[in-house]
Amino acid sequence: MAETVAGPEIERLIQLLARLPGLGPRSARRAALHLIRKKEALLAPLAEAMSVAHERVTTCGVCGNVDTRDPCTICADPRRDPSTLVVVETVADLWALERAGVVRAKYHVLGGVLSPLDGVGPEDLNLSSLAARVGEGGVKEVILAVNATVDGQTTAHYVIDLLAAQNVKVTRLAHGVPVGGELDYLDEGTLAAAINQRTAF
Ligand code: ZN
Repeated sequence: MAETVAGPEIERLIQLLARLPGLGPRSARRAALHLIRKKEALLAPLAEAMSVAHERVTTCGVCGNVDTRDPCTICADPRRDPSTLVVVETVADLWALERAGVVRAKYHVLGGVLSPLDGVGPEDLNLSSLAARVGEGGVKEVILAVNATVDGQTTAHYVIDLLAAQNVKVTRLAHGVPVGGELDYLDEGTLAAAINQRTAF
């Protein structure tokens, strides 16, 4: 157990920071010290921003995204193509796709994946709301942007069955060689998928 070097208020700040993803106890200490040193320029605005976020953050009733408004900024954006729905597992995946800036569509956040081993069933995910959204009409394509894991693929198959009776095209992400990737370093599964899903030049 490390020696306590500061008062309980600062220790609490460090302990809370250490719970953030990507921050261990050492970097949490460094971050806390940085915040304290930049009290006016950083600590105060951060505390204010966190307080406002805590007050206003909500889950979008349409797509499951998190935002300070409901419907969220993406759902309310008229410049987005409402005929394409990108289905993702988590808000983090939605944000990752938005960072890439390749789709100007709408999203549907499942809130996880089907996992019989962990006791996650269809009723635990935003699946019925997905079927309802597609059932309203207007959606022409559903892109399954789920992870290439066993649970992700199980979920993808469930969604395909769920939407089978609806007049909608269901597509999924390609699997294959990452951009800048070298064949020699790929696992056999990725290589096999890349060969099987090859495309014409
Ligand atoms: Zn939304």
